[in-house]
Amino acid sequence: MAKTIYIAGLGLIGTSMALGIKRDHPDYEILGYNRSQTSRKIALERGMVDCVTDDFASFAPLADVIILCLPIKQTVTFIKDLANMDLKEGVIISDAGSTKSAIVDAAEQYLAGKSFRFIGAHPMAGSHKTGAVSADVNLFENAYYIFTPSSLTTPDTLEEMKDLLSGLHARFIEIDAKEHDRVTSQISHFPHILASSLMEQTAIYAEKHEMARYFAAGGFRDMTRIAESEPGMWTSILLSNREIILERIENFKERLDVIGQAISQGDEDHIWNFFNQAREQRQAMEIHKRGGVDSSYDLFVDVPDEEDVILRILELLRGTSLVNIHINEENREDVHGILQISFRNAQDLERAQQVITQNTDYTVVVK
Ligand code: NAD
Repeated sequence: MAKTIYIAGLGLIGTSMALGIKRDHPDYEILGYNRSQTSRKIALERGMVDCVTDDFASFAPLADVIILCLPIKQTVTFIKDLANMDLKEGVIISDAGSTKSAIVDAAEQYLAGKSFRFIGAHPMAGSHKTGAVSADVNLFENAYYIFTPSSLTTPDTLEEMKDLLSGLHARFIEIDAKEHDRVTSQISHFPHILASSLMEQTAIYAEKHEMARYFAAGGFRDMTRIAESEPGMWTSILLSNREIILERIENFKERLDVIGQAISQGDEDHIWNFFNQAREQRQAMEIHKRGGVDSSYDLFVDVPDEEDVILRILELLRGTSLVNIHINEENREDVHGILQISFRNAQDLERAQQVITQNTDYTVVVK
């Protein structure tokens, strides 16, 4: 039976989700709320949604499923507002917020005792882009789509959501909201703090040591890439997961002190073990095995600086889908080849490695 889906917040996440829903359920009606006119207009004109409004309350009673794709604070406010609305019986309310405890707690507090269902969710994909203009039907492909069930989640809620979102081609997974916030504080929130701190430290240092700007290479780029993330979103993430993040910061300070002490004491064994252990830990981590948005399979080709050399490689790879191609033209101290090509999966990578090795005499490194 065709359903009516209400997406509140027609930003990057909301509109990408609308496209994904339409891919598998073209018969579903998608209603959209957005505060500003620009994204409302784009979403409607490009057929991402069927109707739009700037009045959140107006469409809510029509929906079978309401998905809040808004900043965390606004998500909490709308959950509070929904509690006082005359919604369809059994309506499912969900969200897309990057932290979960504050949102799930608000739902438990305001929606309990009503005939509404709630399931917290966090699609773990995105980019620094914002707004409906950046909508991408493949945004969630292979990415984890995390559900955080709570007391307002009936057993059928999860199945209905998975069916609704099947066109996102994401990997659905369930975890407790608090545990979600703990895990993401370590592997996502804290690394953002580190990346921005490193960037800040380097920028200030470079004022007196100008060459720092030019010598920064692949390692520095990898460490600071996420410092270009959207500041508003990250501010609200940190403020909605404060205690856990503060604990990670304290823990890290202690680690820095320990390695600092080893350096000051010239403790060679300690320093060697420090690096060796980290190398082994990283090699054993899921990050090396997984495709999708967060990680990719990289191939480095040491090509000579000759005309058409990149075209030749691309010609060899015709028919293989590439995620990214990068020319490491600056300092190449810590990279394995000038040309870096990223693939979505191990098979594509293997095929590419084979075809380049067979048809050229360039050195190929898989990392
Ligand atoms: P976006 O900036 O593209 O869209 C945000 C939307 O919220 C816009 O439609 C904007 O009009 C609306 N909005 C902002 N403040 C509002 C307010 N006070 N009242 C009403 N509407 C308001 O951002 P996005 O990337 O789509 O993020 C939406 C949610 O998804 C956030 O909670 C974010 O934490 C989460 N999320 C983002 C990413 C990512 O990388 N972008 C990944 C996973 C989850």
